[in-house]
Amino acid sequence: MKRLLVILLALMMAFTFSACGDQNNEGEDPGDDQTVTVDDQQDADDEDEEEPEDIDEEEPEDIDDEEPEDEPEDEPEAVKDNLVDPSEVPLRGDEPPTGDDKSVRGIPDLIDVLTYDDGDLLVLVNKYHGTVPDYKPVDMVAIDPSLGTWNDMSLKKEAYDAYLEMYNDAKAQGYDIKICSAYRSYDGQQSLHLNALAAYSADFARMYSAYPGRSEHHTGLAVDITSASMGWGLKQDFADYADGKWLYDHCQDYGFILRYTKDGEDITGYMYEPWHFRYVGEEAAKEIMEQGITLEEYLGKE
Ligand SMILES: [Zn+2]
Repeated sequence: MKRLLVILLALMMAFTFSACGDQNNEGEDPGDDQTVTVDDQQDADDEDEEEPEDIDEEEPEDIDDEEPEDEPEDEPEAVKDNLVDPSEVPLRGDEPPTGDDKSVRGIPDLIDVLTYDDGDLLVLVNKYHGTVPDYKPVDMVAIDPSLGTWNDMSLKKEAYDAYLEMYNDAKAQGYDIKICSAYRSYDGQQSLHLNALAAYSADFARMYSAYPGRSEHHTGLAVDITSASMGWGLKQDFADYADGKWLYDHCQDYGFILRYTKDGEDITGYMYEPWHFRYVGEEAAKEIMEQGITLEEYLGKE
């Protein structure tokens, strides 16, 4: 029920992050045009219990009055057996500090943790929904080194096949793009996050880099795309470049979405990343991109 309440209110939260940044980003501060209003979301949890009036008027099947067992229609889905309570995941003892900001712009408490890959292309890993340290996506394939800026990168096969189609069509248009980050392990993400904390303020780092165990890159379904036009770095105005715009306009045709949008910062918990694309399959991708919503909104989850 708590979960229900949270979901109802959830218009504003989420996670992971970006990639090439640490290796390729030439110090460009992607935060220049960001207004980090850390406190905006702090109140979200207070609202739960206090707003019965609004909820009652709009929805007769009010949450407060019903037994959770009796409302299959409103329960988005049963708890899956690959999700465990965060308390069941032991701390490793070497995690980076989490800080005090529990809002979506900081590092909120986890709702659940994913233990294994059941093949769900709509799997949600963000600031609220984590992965166990040894989580390993299945059906992984190596990325052709000529298509990336680094060696030894990998993706789930379905996402890679879709990427290859998108890549070939982009190439036919004359665009020179490469993958600069794909699957990342827990340890790899931890290194990136520690680097981000060392390079930026904690507030900024948490809007820019996922905490280990909460990165979408851990799913093997996310890619960061760079281009010759960006000097093989990552730039916040990528969508203004012809190749970035082409990707933005066409990614859904290949089953990808732009995951961290400008308007979605208070939902995803990450600043705008015009280079981070997530494979969700064509049907969901078209709906998400056409509606201009986040994956969280599409799934009705925070
Ligand atoms: Zn990324």
